[in-house]
Amino acid sequence: MEFGLEKCAKASFMKGKLASTGNIVIDDDTEIQELDQEGVYKYLGVDESDGIQHSKMKEKIRKEYNRRVRLILRTELNGRNKIEAINSLAVPVVQYSFGIIDWKISELKKIDTKTRKLLNMHKMLHPKADVERLYIPRKDGGRGLIDVETAFKTATIGLDHYLKHKEGQYPKQVLEHERSKAKNSISKNATKFKREVTMPEIENRVDKSASENAKALKHVFKSRMKSMKEEKWKNKALHGQYPKILEKPHVDTVTTNKWLSSNLKGETEGLLVAAQDQAINTRNYQKIICGQQVESKCRLCSQHEETVDHIVSGCEVLAKTEYISRHNNAAAYLHWSICKDHDIEIADKWYEHEPETVIHNKDNNITIMWDMPVNTDRTITANRPDIIVKDSVNSTCKLIDMTVPSDRNIALKETEKKCKYKDLELEIQRMWHMKTVVIPVVVGALGTVKKGMVENIKKVSERASMTEIQKICMLGSARILRKVLSV
Ligand SMILES: [Zn+2]
Repeated sequence: MEFGLEKCAKASFMKGKLASTGNIVIDDDTEIQELDQEGVYKYLGVDESDGIQHSKMKEKIRKEYNRRVRLILRTELNGRNKIEAINSLAVPVVQYSFGIIDWKISELKKIDTKTRKLLNMHKMLHPKADVERLYIPRKDGGRGLIDVETAFKTATIGLDHYLKHKEGQYPKQVLEHERSKAKNSISKNATKFKREVTMPEIENRVDKSASENAKALKHVFKSRMKSMKEEKWKNKALHGQYPKILEKPHVDTVTTNKWLSSNLKGETEGLLVAAQDQAINTRNYQKIICGQQVESKCRLCSQHEETVDHIVSGCEVLAKTEYISRHNNAAAYLHWSICKDHDIEIADKWYEHEPETVIHNKDNNITIMWDMPVNTDRTITANRPDIIVKDSVNSTCKLIDMTVPSDRNIALKETEKKCKYKDLELEIQRMWHMKTVVIPVVVGALGTVKKGMVENIKKVSERASMTEIQKICMLGSARILRKVLSV
């Protein structure tokens, strides 16, 4: 990706004409070097006699920032990388000017709003998706974008701390100047911003340098800002439902949030996040949230309220086709992983893999059964788990069953599966004389992972990854949402 530095554009002359090198040649011995990006800001910062052209500079910065965001959004990068590229290639354009250009908070808020508009336009962000969540780190369930407003506040607090504690005459003079300013004073702003988040008093450590101390302070401020955003997200009636599920004691939050760090397309990621936020245009949403006079029952079954939850996991019409194919994809991935573990020759990619009903390894001591009923002496109705792995060397048998329920029901479903196959477990143990276990693999339709599932997956296969299974299920749900709602 190429970024020109338009905001640093300048005219260069050679004896009255434009020089091709970009440097200004005054005479044979004197040539003024082209300023690099850093130089331009420093130059503007100290050039007190001419004054800084604040509004002109702001316009240039805004333009360059937006240009970069647009360029990034047009690339083929995945969702996470697009956000990372904005953070590392566009946000610094604004960041460099902090402490020099007299930004008002309202102006920075506008830049953030514009960024969200651009994300909307490129379908990275659903217009009704949660705003706070966009700025929460990915490992905590957000999307990890940096908002320039927080970046500005953080920089101001750091700068103020640095000026207060840095030895030497110049920092003192700058600090005095800043304190005397009525508007845009770094010191006054820093005090105000700290008050907004009720910052704890941080001790200035004498064994550390002024910049190290400032860095530590910035870190505390940033985490305070993050907690505030998280609180705001959780306290929303609609968007807050999902973070509340994440807080439940049976949910493995760390694993659940891992899909956000995988390589999904920005569009898919945007759709899934909006689905978790319950911000998708379902009939129930149109009626309850938007107050429209519409039928709120499901357009397919007409039986239940058409909510996100219903579409991805509760509709009888979709159960016969869509849910089965989502389930089979995830189960096929598990089957493929087990086959790989035992050196059984199969397709290279899991999605090209078509599980055979019965397959053995080379030594014929491992048997893997796919969707096969077990013949038992006494009648057992639940006799067909997704996968059965018989290991005649260790005399063990695994009954693996995959399920993709509503995210609210993952705990219940695990218990249900265990009960369902209990009879079969006992019967196999008796008939085959093998130590038999039921291993349920449960992932919520929108990716919620129950505690203990990572361990269950390990029991099933060495190479299978929980995040991959989660992604397969979520992609299946995204496909269903698109199909039903044409989003
Ligand atoms: Zn339905």
